[in-house]
Amino acid sequence: MTRFAYVDGRFLPHDEAVVHVEDRGFQFGDAIYEVWSVRDGQLLDADGHFARLERSLGELRIANPKSRAGYQLLIGELLRRNRLRDGLVYLQISRGRARRDHAFPAAGTRPTLVLTSKRLDRVAAQLRADAGVGVITTPDLRWGRCDIKTVNLLPNVLAKQAAIEAGAVEAWLVDSSGLVTEGSSTNAWIVTADGRLVTRQADQGILHGITRASLMRQAEELGYVIEERAFSVDEAVSAREAFMTSATSYVTPIVRIDGRPVGNGAPGSVATALRQAYLDSA
Ligand code: PMP
Repeated sequence: MTRFAYVDGRFLPHDEAVVHVEDRGFQFGDAIYEVWSVRDGQLLDADGHFARLERSLGELRIANPKSRAGYQLLIGELLRRNRLRDGLVYLQISRGRARRDHAFPAAGTRPTLVLTSKRLDRVAAQLRADAGVGVITTPDLRWGRCDIKTVNLLPNVLAKQAAIEAGAVEAWLVDSSGLVTEGSSTNAWIVTADGRLVTRQADQGILHGITRASLMRQAEELGYVIEERAFSVDEAVSAREAFMTSATSYVTPIVRIDGRPVGNGAPGSVATALRQAYLDSA
C-alpha cells in the first residue's frame, strides 16, 4: 500500500514527498511541529495540540497557513488515504522557502506545511508499559525556549541515542542545578512517598506537554495532589514511582534511572492506574 504525505498543498506518494533545499526548515530549523496520537481513527487531545501549534507559530511570528477546521480536513484525508486508524500524525510548518539569509524573508513568503502519518505498534507499546522502562540522565544542552515546539532537536536526538545505546528507552535531561527538566521527547513525573504527583513547572525550560496537561486535569479529578516543581535525580531514584508522558507513549512507568531501581523496580500502581485512566478517557 502506498503511503501518502501532504506537502505544500498536495498529497504525494511518501517517497516523492520532498521539500525544497532553500526551505528555511531545512536551512535553519526555522520551523515548528506537532504530533497527535491517533486511536480508532480519532485524534487524541486534538484541541490542546492545535492550541500549542498556534502558540508556537505566534512565538516565532510564522503566519498560520490554515484554520483548525482546515487542518482537520487535511488530517482526515491523510488518515483516509493511508487507511490509518492507530498511530500518529506529524505536522510541520516552516517559515517557507526563500534565498538563504538569516533574517526573516520578505512579507508574502508562504510557510511550508507538511503532514505525514505513521502506524504504531500498540501491542508492543502496551507490553513496554506493562514491563516499565529504563531511563538514563544526561545534561540538558538545549536553548532557553524549550516551550516552543521547534524542529531544533539535536540535543534531544543525541540524548535519545545515548539512552538507546545504554539499553534504556528515554533520557531525562538535567539542568545545571542537578534538577530534571524533562525527557528527550516526554515529560517527567515522580510519585512521592505520600502519593503526591510531582512534575516540573511549565515555564520556558520545558515543552508544555499536552498529555501532561490532560493527565494533570484527570489526576486532580481522581483526587491526586499535584506539585508543579523541579525534582533532582536523587529524589526521583528514591521516589515511590516515576513515569513519563507524551502523546505517543501516553503514561509509561519508569522502573530504572541510570540502572538504579525506582521503588521496587516494577511499574507502580499510581502510574498504572493513571495510564488506564488516560486511555479510558481517550
Ligand atoms: N517534551 C518533549 C521535549 C517532547 O518532544 C514531547 C513530545 N512532543 C513531550 C515533552 C510530550 O509532549 P506531548 O504530551 O504534547 O506529546
